[in-house]
Amino acid sequence: MSNLILTRDNYFSPCAEKDYVSCSQFLDFFGGGLLKGCEARAMAKIRGEWIEEQSTALLVGSYVHSWNEGPQERSRFIAEHPEMFTKQGGLKCEYKQADEMIAALENDEMCMFMLNGQKEIIFTAELFGLKWKVRFDNYLPEKKRSSDLKTTRSISDKDWICEGGINKKVSFVEAYCYPLRAAVYCEVERLAMGRPEGDWIDFYLVAVSKEDPPDKAVISLKDPERYIKELSVIEECTPRLKLLKEGRLEPIRCEQCAYCRSTKQVSKVIHYSDI
Ligand SMILES: [Zn+2]
Repeated sequence: MSNLILTRDNYFSPCAEKDYVSCSQFLDFFGGGLLKGCEARAMAKIRGEWIEEQSTALLVGSYVHSWNEGPQERSRFIAEHPEMFTKQGGLKCEYKQADEMIAALENDEMCMFMLNGQKEIIFTAELFGLKWKVRFDNYLPEKKRSSDLKTTRSISDKDWICEGGINKKVSFVEAYCYPLRAAVYCEVERLAMGRPEGDWIDFYLVAVSKEDPPDKAVISLKDPERYIKELSVIEECTPRLKLLKEGRLEPIRCEQCAYCRSTKQVSKVIHYSDI
């Protein structure tokens, strides 16, 4: 592995994706909650052979994040994304809604307070023999606090997920694996800052919904017992992840995701009763 120094500009570069594991990459391999993992797709992404299409929902999230980074970043985002506007020059309705989400946060003292801090702060550390990277939206070391801004369909709606063969209804926090993300973020930051075991910073989600009018909440993800559980899940997956990333193990194809469908070659006849 090289010693690439991560910056804002190279954080998602192919080199960074090869050298480091991020939470999204880990979930891309192994899945969790509503997120479906696919080893073949994850490796194709790392090799630069597969680029996920950026959905409007993802772009709306990035736009709200650019606001969080400050007026300059918001202007830069607007300049770089002419697709935000209709042919007549007005904002498309998804972005009008995004502006309402921003206004909802701006008008809330508690949300704005929790979004304080240094922006887009990167940390790296080794977890179980692999290098990990994390990037905090808002980082306030003097208060031992950090927060992530999250746009979501709804804060209170539940989603069905299947875990260990059991179907259960969970909040968006579980559906999108935020406990795992919080565990990794806090552990990587702790290691990078050289604090003792278990001395984790507080990690909050400032969530804003895409409803009209938007709902909002400040959610604490502090849960040391859960962090330990999540980190042990990562430890269990690490030997396989290491072999996969080193190209010493053939990644398993899920045969369901867009990558698998687009690269599929039918090799045998299947019986209708097996579908
Ligand atoms: Zn797949």
